[in-house]
Amino acid sequence: MTAVETIGDALSAGWRVRARCVGGLVDYKTSTRKCDIFEELSLRDLAWTRGLSCSLSNLESRLKCPRCGNRRISLVFEPPAPPQANAVRTPVFGR
Ligand SMILES: [Zn+2]
Repeated sequence: MTAVETIGDALSAGWRVRARCVGGLVDYKTSTRKCDIFEELSLRDLAWTRGLSCSLSNLESRLKCPRCGNRRISLVFEPPAPPQANAVRTPVFGR
């Protein structure tokens, strides 16, 4: 398996990415609440805005929470399920 280091790598490997706002505060005028936004990002959109060669380790520092404007973002990468080669092959009959 090849290393996944850039947006292009993650995209072709079928990874998914979620972003969590860390320690941000949302201003509701009369009060402030902790921002706990946790959303899936589109790798395709990231490829359009950052380029395929943007490294995943640099990505966190370039993101900004759309709800509170916080720049401390934590990314969670989710590789796809193990490839077919590792799966137990079960023939399917009678369809
Ligand atoms: Zn936030």
